[in-house]
Parts: sequence; structure tokens; C-alpha cells
Amino acid sequence: MGRWFAMSMVWPCPLTVDAYASMGRAVEVPRPQCPSCSSPVVFWSGYWRHVRWRRRERKIFIPRVRCRACGVSHALLPAFVLVRRLDAAGTAGAVIGRVAGGGCGVRRAAAAAGVPHTTARGWVRRFAARAGDLAVSFSALAVELGGEVVRPQPDRCRLAVAAVGAAFTAASGLPGWAVLGRWRFACAVTGGSLLAANASSPFLIIGRRRFMPPRSS
Ligand SMILES: [Zn+2]
Repeated sequence: MGRWFAMSMVWPCPLTVDAYASMGRAVEVPRPQCPSCSSPVVFWSGYWRHVRWRRRERKIFIPRVRCRACGVSHALLPAFVLVRRLDAAGTAGAVIGRVAGGGCGVRRAAAAAGVPHTTARGWVRRFAARAGDLAVSFSALAVELGGEVVRPQPDRCRLAVAAVGAAFTAASGLPGWAVLGRWRFACAVTGGSLLAANASSPFLIIGRRRFMPPRSS
């Protein structure tokens, strides 16, 4: 590795977890431009990691690219993978959506998703801690994409979930996004950092368009 500085990018992979896993190393990933300098990048090895989906762990291959101009390598994560999380984005999103929507408590949502209660509680807490920023960012993205203005809600987690939904609905008109569903979409446009501990304001990316939304106060 040496001087190469490693980062990750999330691409809007349309494959299911199982379809992706079954392709092993042969998984085909569109070659991105360098997100920093827009130079062409070259594929450069990769690594294996695990992802848990529907109560089972799968081993998946994550290709890497590198940019000679920047000296940076980027892991290309499929949209169902959250950075530093074992569980798929759809699982975490389903739990968050149910709890924030008032459908049930964390314990029941965790049981329904087949994940440990403590794991689910961690997601809900992390989402709640970032809900203000996420609501602002995804609301701005929804409007930017020509979608509906998100109506205010008394609960900020519910508002954030509504904003994710509004942005996804607006993005669904663009090629390649509808198939992802709202949580893989949310994972992709936040670069996998939807539930990251150290993320600042999310940096939303749609294809080659970038949105740096205002921060909430
Ligand atoms: Zn570069």
C-alpha cells in the first residue's frame, strides 16, 4: 500500500446482495472518475469482506481503483454496503424506518429484521443523532431534483425518514435509481456514511452531480 491513501466510494449497484456475492471477483463495476480530480482511474486489486443480509453472512469482493494524479485509492462499495457496518443498508434502513415511523419499538424491529437488539439500537441512535443534518440534506436534494418540498414534522427522525423518501422519489425519475429502493439510494448518495460516527454534513452525490447542502443549525 505504502503511500496510497485509501478512501471509499459507493456506486448505485442494481444487484441484490446474493446476485452480487455470487459473482465473486468477476463482479462488474463501472469505472468511475476520480472524485477529487476527475482523472481516469485504474482498477487495482480489491479485498473481500462480509455483509449480512436476511440473517445470513455473505462474502463479497470489493474492487479498488486508484488515481495516479492524487495518489489515492478508492474502494468501490455497492450501494447495499454501509461503511464499517456488517449489515446491509436495507436492513438498517428497515429498522430505522419502522422505529422512526412509530410502527414499533427497537426490540420488535430488531426481531423482525433478525439482528441483535443492541445493533438495531445503535443504528436508531446514530440516525437520531444525525437526523437534523440528514433532514436538511435530503430535503435540499429532493428540491434540487425537482421533487416535492418535505413538510415539517414534529419528530426529527420522522422528518429525516420523510426527506430520504422524498429525495428517493425525486431521484427515481433518473436512470438507474428506482431499482435501489430508498435505503440503498440513501447509502449511495451519502457515500456509505449514512450511519457513520464521524460524518459531518452528508455529501450527496447523484451520478456526476454533487450536492453540498446547507448544514442545519
Ligand atoms: Zn484524482
